[in-house]
Amino acid sequence: MADTHLVVLGSRGSIPVSGPDFDRYGGNTSCYAIVEDRKAIAFIDAGTGLAAYRSYGVKLGSSVGVFLTHYHWDHIQGLSMLDELWKGACAVSVWGPDDPHAALTSSIRPPFFPVAIADVMSVRFEPMVDPIEIGGLAISAFPVHHPQGGIGYRIEGPDRTVSIVTDHESGSDIDAAIAEHIAGSDVLIHDAQYLPEEAEAHRGWGHSTYVDAIASAERAGASELILTSHDPSRTDAAINVMMADVRRRFPSAIASSQGLEVSI
Ligand SMILES: [Zn+2]
Repeated sequence: MADTHLVVLGSRGSIPVSGPDFDRYGGNTSCYAIVEDRKAIAFIDAGTGLAAYRSYGVKLGSSVGVFLTHYHWDHIQGLSMLDELWKGACAVSVWGPDDPHAALTSSIRPPFFPVAIADVMSVRFEPMVDPIEIGGLAISAFPVHHPQGGIGYRIEGPDRTVSIVTDHESGSDIDAAIAEHIAGSDVLIHDAQYLPEEAEAHRGWGHSTYVDAIASAERAGASELILTSHDPSRTDAAINVMMADVRRRFPSAIASSQGLEVSI
């Protein structure tokens, strides 16, 4: 039986950040590798964390699936920096909401990037059907509430089920539908970009607070909660302060950090 893990490569929302204030949780944007015996079989999102996969002991074989939650820059920029894709060394299948071909060929091209992904023969754009079976995983998608839309993923592995909701504004009817899709997950990785006191000023921006994330985990019956999509202004020290209150409400919750590994 393969040793299957999710490895966090980036959990920052909006834009990458760097410097001594961000060492503990990391500054790369959204990317999660799913590895079997250290080899990546899938990436959830392709933010800047994707370009750093080697730093976390992740290997890339001759093919990999990339499952995008949506097409905002912080979720796709790492794809443009994946050497193996441009060299044709790895066959990359891309799944995502609506039309991933239209979204990526119109954004990864000159003048935004020196070369056009439409000219790369080693990438294929796939329609999202449920579930996608890849390696020993079954991956299914469900809608979330985010500007221009987006999806979350439920990943059923050989041992455990992990659900990922990277960018989602809680507080509408869609929360109940999400709870149904992720019901019974062992682990929920959920957007917690804002503090409760920041939520009102960011209504409509498409993100949740940690209070929302805890409510989502409780609705789904998830025993483990990992908070992600850290605001770019949230330093390590500020995340630690946030987590002190989070743990009073959900004792086993942790904050996502680059290099964190979760068994699946
Ligand atoms: Zn977004």
